[in-house]
Amino acid sequence: MMVETPTVLEHPLGQALPVQGKAPRVAVYTLGCKLNYADGLSIRKTFEDQGYEPVSFEEGADVYIINTCSVTDKADRKCAKVVRQALRYAPNAQVAVVGCYAQLRPDEIAQIPGVTLVAGTADKWRLPQLLPEGGAHRVVRRPIQEALDFVPAQSWGDRTRAFLKVQDGCDYPCSYCTIPAARGISRSDRMDSVIQRAKDLVKNGAVEIVLTGVNLGDFGKGKGDRDRFPQEPRQGLDALVRRLHQEVDAERFRLSSVEPNLLDEALLLAVKESPRFVPHFHIPLQSGSDTVLARMRRRYRTDLYRERLLRIQELFPEVCIGADVMVGFPGETDAEFEACKNFLDSLPLAYLHVFSYSERPGTDAMAMGEAVTNEQRALRNQVLTRWSLERERHFAETFRGRTLPVLFENEAYPGSKDSPSTMRGYTPNYLRVETVYDPLWAGSVVPVYLNQLVPGCTEVRWSGTIVA
Ligand code: SF4
Repeated sequence: MMVETPTVLEHPLGQALPVQGKAPRVAVYTLGCKLNYADGLSIRKTFEDQGYEPVSFEEGADVYIINTCSVTDKADRKCAKVVRQALRYAPNAQVAVVGCYAQLRPDEIAQIPGVTLVAGTADKWRLPQLLPEGGAHRVVRRPIQEALDFVPAQSWGDRTRAFLKVQDGCDYPCSYCTIPAARGISRSDRMDSVIQRAKDLVKNGAVEIVLTGVNLGDFGKGKGDRDRFPQEPRQGLDALVRRLHQEVDAERFRLSSVEPNLLDEALLLAVKESPRFVPHFHIPLQSGSDTVLARMRRRYRTDLYRERLLRIQELFPEVCIGADVMVGFPGETDAEFEACKNFLDSLPLAYLHVFSYSERPGTDAMAMGEAVTNEQRALRNQVLTRWSLERERHFAETFRGRTLPVLFENEAYPGSKDSPSTMRGYTPNYLRVETVYDPLWAGSVVPVYLNQLVPGCTEVRWSGTIVA
């Protein structure tokens, strides 16, 4: 269990002051997932609203915000590195550390030389008001139970795809995960607000909108939603999918990760009835061994996972389905890992995101059996990463010679003296495609004939020809 820290600590430390007459400058550095990135942009906006000028990290800012992640211990270590880097660019800057790591280990962060403000989850949206004055050093961290508001956030992937955060927090008890302790209970944006925000994104050029959340499938049904609006009938992600399709003019919508137990028939049918929702599902599995799933305290077992995937395949014949898998969970035996691999072999998956288990202080998993050695974790990770690459190639190959709509990014990838610049994009079912850069088609959806897989590259990517 986590130890709650005092709310406010202050002690003197050097403070940066903006140059007289000039707007103070702020730079935000975000670690972690797309959702955190969207939060980082919203935090930056709170500074812009107070008259700050946003600048890049390297330009030298008066205030640096490090928006942290705490999924692995690597993410924790990176925070200290980013603080050092910021102070190299601007030795007198104020450095505020926020985000998941700040909520979980505020005292640890306060020890990092140069950090002037540490703010937890409930307070990260009012940083301009919290920056310590007169050279103080401050830790503001309320218990996570006080993080009850939903704060909207969105970000741009490649200037054609927008990530729209519609849900935050999680009510689940997975034994290895710190997210409920770092981000709070599950709570969502109001349906009307999501629709309006999606319309605004389209007005600003979004061609594809990706719905994101910590536990997206829980949209509208979390503890936070039930507490705030107890009288309202619960409308979930299926209702949101239908309304977005009916009311918002985006060319494409995509769902980010949805837990298998929440990917129910109602949601699948809503996606099926809304053809602008693409046939791509990312469904966390974590382990293909039921005994490991039980220790992880996941809310499903392999039979439900398989049943959901087969149903999806039935409804969406050319669907792309991806999964997260974690290797090296405490006590994971060779037999359990083998069972996981056999289970994966039996599923219609197109790719995996493979993670090695990482010890997270305060989680129950740490006491759940003998630790798997780092060598074993790395080995198992390698085995599944190779498995994923083969599956991805195999999935991609089934589309050889087909013409599919591709949404190209605006950006050009520079060529060499023998080859022209290229542009890249995705088909609805998440095949990565590149073709010769043509400003006429950059940022739009165009039919592309898939010629061949790009040889000699580690990612699976089609080379194609525009047939418009
Ligand atoms: S579903 Fe489990 S792993 Fe995912 S955020 Fe919630 S507690 Fe963490």
